[in-house]
Amino acid sequence: MISALMPNYNRADICFEHGQGAYLFDETRRRYLDFGAGIATSSLGHGHPHLVRAIAEQAAKVIHVSNLYRVKQAERLAARYVAASFADSVFFCNSGAEANEGLVKAMRKTQADEGHPERTRVICFEGAFHGRTLAMISATGNPKYLAGFGEPVPGFDHVPLNDIAAVRAAITPQTAGILVEPIQGEGGIRAVNPGFLQALRDLCDEHGLLLGFDEVQTGMGRTGKLFAHEWHGVTPDVLSSAKGIGGGFPMAAVLGTERVAKALVPGSHGTTYGGGPLACAAGNAVLDVILADGFLDQLTATAAFLRAGLEALVVAHPAVFTEVRGMGLLLGLKCTPPNGEVQAAALTHGLLTVAAGDNVLRLAPPLIIGQAECEEALALLGEVAAQLAAQAGAAAK
Ligand SMILES: *Cc1c(COP(=O)(O)O)cnc(C)c1O
Repeated sequence: MISALMPNYNRADICFEHGQGAYLFDETRRRYLDFGAGIATSSLGHGHPHLVRAIAEQAAKVIHVSNLYRVKQAERLAARYVAASFADSVFFCNSGAEANEGLVKAMRKTQADEGHPERTRVICFEGAFHGRTLAMISATGNPKYLAGFGEPVPGFDHVPLNDIAAVRAAITPQTAGILVEPIQGEGGIRAVNPGFLQALRDLCDEHGLLLGFDEVQTGMGRTGKLFAHEWHGVTPDVLSSAKGIGGGFPMAAVLGTERVAKALVPGSHGTTYGGGPLACAAGNAVLDVILADGFLDQLTATAAFLRAGLEALVVAHPAVFTEVRGMGLLLGLKCTPPNGEVQAAALTHGLLTVAAGDNVLRLAPPLIIGQAECEEALALLGEVAAQLAAQAGAAAK
């Protein structure tokens, strides 16, 4: 008989009962070091007092009022994003896929308002991940996610990442914009080359196209800047944010320049839960921490320490790990054994990680970790690598 919970996930047979900082505890009180952060989402770790208090206090006052009324927490949060980023205006919603839907709608509507209703297509990249709605599996383009769901939603073209000639060749009179992740997360921690985002910006400006960044995974401080594109000195017209934005509370945002944001007039787009008092209380609490003086500098120093340790791990265990990828606290280890086996072995050693595409083991710890947690993770990964190398050696005999 089918389980009461729909069987759409491959879950590990483990159930966490509570968390503290970078640690999760299962029902037997066994401790796990969480270097997955619920897929780069629990940005402040578990049980962060400032976040917990903000959510509890707001929940006691009022949880939901709808967007029929002003929401002061949302107004404040939007103003803080505008002050801290390229954006002039912000729309709040509830998930990464929903933010990307809003981003694509904003691109199309902007083009239509500017006299180009025929410009509806968006150029996306091979290896991308933009979410699971019907339109976003089409934007993602991965046959694995499209299989069985019939005709893909039209309007998305795919080209190889970092191939600017291919992007140029894909532009047609129907192109509205380009959507790119500064680092492909699900795709295997694959970063854009230096200069690629600038080249996309130039192409967009040349052809009147809109540049969209999917920073659902790379944003909210994960790479050491509020948004990863800041490392490239290039700004988009529109950006999607989610995952870390609420510290685990479901929330997402579309950030836009005035050119794009003004297309979303009343009635053109909406969402019942989006930008509610409770989600925005969480969002404001997360920003309090991430934007605090020195927090991102500290993160960058911790990340450099972790990365150096991972590079050493590759040197020490070349039969298991072959490459370190990524930036800040969004890191990947390219594996020789299947990454699922490495992930499972790490779990038995008490370390939580996340598999990604291209046989990469993803490390996306809470942003609040320090050197001690990195040292522990590196030691555990060393044990995992030694065990897997020994198993491979035994199997070869
Ligand atoms: C996770 C992710 C999404 C989808 O977010 P959901 O909240 O699962 O809808 C979209 N884009 C990127 C880059 C992601 O990492």
